[in-house]
Formats: sequence, structure tokens, C-alpha cells
Amino acid sequence: MTQRLYQGVENEIDATTAILAETKGKSCCGEAASRRARSTDKLREECGVVAIHGHPSAARQAYLGLYALQHRGQESAGIATADGQRLANIKGMGLVSEIFTDDVLAKLPGTMAIGHTRYSTTGDSALLNAQPIRVDSTKGLIAIAHNGNLVNLGNLRASLERDGAYFQTTSDSEIIVQLIAHSGSSTLVDAIADSLSKIDGAFSIVMMTRDRVFAARDPRGFRPLSMGRIKNPGAPDTVVFASETCAFDLLRAEYIRDVLPGELVMVTEDGVTSRQYSSGVPQTSCIFEHVYFARPDSRIFGRWVQESRDQMGRQLARESGVAADVVVPVPDSGVTAALGYAEEARIPFRFGLIRNHYVGRTFIEPEQRVRDFGVRLKLNPVHNLLEGKRVILIDDSIIRGTTSRKIVRMVRGAGAKEVHLRISCPPTISPCFYGVDTPSKRELIAANNSIEEIRRYIEADSLAYLSLDGLLGAVQDQGRTGHCTACYTGDYPTQWVDVEDILPATVNI
Ligand code: SF4
Repeated sequence: MTQRLYQGVENEIDATTAILAETKGKSCCGEAASRRARSTDKLREECGVVAIHGHPSAARQAYLGLYALQHRGQESAGIATADGQRLANIKGMGLVSEIFTDDVLAKLPGTMAIGHTRYSTTGDSALLNAQPIRVDSTKGLIAIAHNGNLVNLGNLRASLERDGAYFQTTSDSEIIVQLIAHSGSSTLVDAIADSLSKIDGAFSIVMMTRDRVFAARDPRGFRPLSMGRIKNPGAPDTVVFASETCAFDLLRAEYIRDVLPGELVMVTEDGVTSRQYSSGVPQTSCIFEHVYFARPDSRIFGRWVQESRDQMGRQLARESGVAADVVVPVPDSGVTAALGYAEEARIPFRFGLIRNHYVGRTFIEPEQRVRDFGVRLKLNPVHNLLEGKRVILIDDSIIRGTTSRKIVRMVRGAGAKEVHLRISCPPTISPCFYGVDTPSKRELIAANNSIEEIRRYIEADSLAYLSLDGLLGAVQDQGRTGHCTACYTGDYPTQWVDVEDILPATVNI
């Protein structure tokens, strides 16, 4: 049987083995995942959240916010609204623009809204576990949308069921609502603070009742969540929350600040109040948000993503420069780092690979025949830019290595004389348990092979990764933000990890 343990806390194994049946294979928002994205060769962010308080078209504002956050999840989306009396909720499978037509938005009245977009499993459970989740509790109607992944559920679900909780989903996000419903605290805000302090892991949450909006981050601040406002002449400001600040731009909202790790913010018609429900825990914000997930036009954890990626590229050029004729990004996520690399190395930057933006969702389909076509469907080389050239390819990660090998072959097949692959972060050697869908250690090529072995496998002339120090330097902000780097180090900031997922492969490539 698989067990969970924390570095060195082995005496907790027996007491916690039972947890696994509930929490094994969790993906973002806690659904028992079927290792689905583990069929892809790219890490996936799984959720984006948005909240609106005090706007006459709250549903439409939430829609626009989700539209800007679509890159954080493309399988399902939902919006819940409240008008002081009722709490409506509509969810669907597909892209935000496909689900929320004008007719659908018209069914979501009210001046408050929360929204969620999600990369989820395929199968029957996907819509059931789409968010927001609405629960009719002893504390009234509550809707919740959650980005992240809880890790210490323990027997919370079982004990809540013994206390009479009736779960409508298999999502651990619903456990948060049930904890609130069963809290002994007399006020709702106390019950929320009490419940959040009982759970561990990654969560950036927005919640709504009939007349209030709440936003909170876990004490370590794994996932981003920012607060902004839309100024309404002659009327109170609209308060907005979003996973990334790029959503504020579409809403014409002004960024105010990040929700702090361990902070619970409440918005009512009387204004904004806040409390620290937890303090003293070191911040470990996800460094991979800067490497890959977040949009470069977002400011997360107090720093522009574009600036971080540019610095990653520059540092990569300083650490592992090589003579070449052209720097080519693997689009889209490699572009900003490649620009930094090219500028630092004084080598021309060229779009030598063109991405077809209209095939993205195809890759979520599980059929093997689609996957085999994936890279060629998605990318095409620009032959006249590559022919006879020594090419430096810049990408943000190598997961299994299969996609990287296809891209290297594609560039060489277009006539490149040499192909040098540079990766704008350190080797990914350990899975994530905090809301990012990663393969187990057995499937991570860098966990089981040397860099030279990977180079041979992907058939590149040379291969280099950014060092961990180089990455930390690229995202530094005078020491204000601490980062989680567990997928590069195996050093997890929380107690609970899945031991089966962190076992290395026994057979190398
Ligand atoms: S393990 Fe990696 S992807 Fe997961 S939170 Fe930590 S840095 Fe981010």
C-alpha cells in the first residue's frame, strides 16, 4: 500500500495511511484525478478564480475576468452570482466564451459574483466537480471557487459525514464549505477563519454568500490572488479579486494589492475588512508561476512575470552560452525568456517555430492517436529561418522528454545545422502536490537520467538548464517573497506528500 510521509516524520505513517484512499491522485480543487494530464508532456495549471463585489453587471464582469484567466484552465468554467436574496450558479464544460453566451449571463442576476475556470479530468465527474460549488449549509448558502490543492484532508471528510455532512461532489473544496458549516463559531467570518486554519496545502479561494464576498490565501501563499477596484463615478467602488492581474486590465480595474498569505478578506456593502487567520508560516509561493503558468502581462507575488522571464533568459545565456546564429523560442511560453537570452547573448531572435493557436484543446483529448499528432499539429518550423543555421531553442521545461525530442527533430528536419536546447528553469525532478498537474517521479525524465542522457534522448547537440540559484535570482524582489521550488529540489514545504509519486523509476531510458 502506498503511504505518505513527511521528510523524517516516519512515525506518522501508520496513522495516516488511511488518508490516501481519499487524497491519492488529487488534482487541483481536490478531485480524485485519473492521472489524466499525466498523459501530456507539459505541466498544467488547473484553476483560475475571480470575484466581483458591487457591480450592476457582476456576472458579465466575472465572465471577462475568467476570459482573461482562460490559460489557467480550459475544460470547465462556472459563475455564481448573488443579489442579496438569491444565489444563482451556472457551470459548464468548455471554454468560458462557449459556456457563457448572452442568454446564459442573463440568468445570473446580482451585483456580486465569483467565477472559476478549470483544467479538469475527462469523464462523468468533470461537470459535477466544476466550480463554483454551491452548498446550502447551516450558515446559509455558500458558493466557493478554489485554486490549489489541499494536502492534509486526513479523515476530515469521514468525520464531517459522521457529523451529518452530505457531500454533493468528490472535491476537497467542498470540505472547506462543510468545515465552515459545522464550525462551532457563531459568526460566519469566524467560522471561515476557523476552517481555513484546519486545512493545509495550496488554496487561493473566493467565496460568496447572499450578501458578502470573501477572498483568502493559504498561509504559505502558494497560488497568487490579487485585489483591485473599479472606480464608479458617484457610487462606491467595485471590489474585484483575480488569480492574475491580467484579468484587471480587461475589467479596467486598478490593482490595489495581493491578498496576503494567511489573510482572509471580507467585502460587504459597508466596505472591505481583513484579518490574518494564520501568521508566522514561511511564504513558499510557487516559482513555476513565474516560469510558465502565469501570463507575462500579469504581476504575481508582487513582481511582473515578464521581468522574471526576461531575467531567466539573460541568466541562462550567462550560464550556458553557445556559439549560434539564431535564438528561437518554443512558443508561447518560451518567448519572453528567449528574448532575454538573445539580448544578453547578442544573437538574433527569430520566430522559427509557429504555433497554431486553434488546436489547444485537442491536446486534452485522451486518445492516443491525437497525442501522436500533437506536436506537428501545434507547431510548424519556418524553414527559411532555420536552414543551415546553428539554432538555440529556448523552452520552459522538459517533462517526459518526448515533446522536446519531437521539436528538436522538427527543427533539424527543417535544415538546422545544430540544435542547442536551453531550458529556463532547473531540471524538473519531483511532482507537485499543490495544484499543478505533474507526472509521478517515475515519469519525469530528469528525475531518472543525467543531463547528458537526456541530451542523447532528445537528440540535441547540447542541452543546458538554468541553475536553481539562477532561477531564484531571476525572481528575486529584495527578499520579500519566499518561493516553493519543490519540483526542482524534492524539498516540500508541507508535511504531506504521496510517497508513491516520489519514487524514482527503476528503468532508465
Ligand atoms: S512543487 Fe513546483 S509547481 Fe508545485 S508549487 Fe512548488 S514550485 Fe510550484
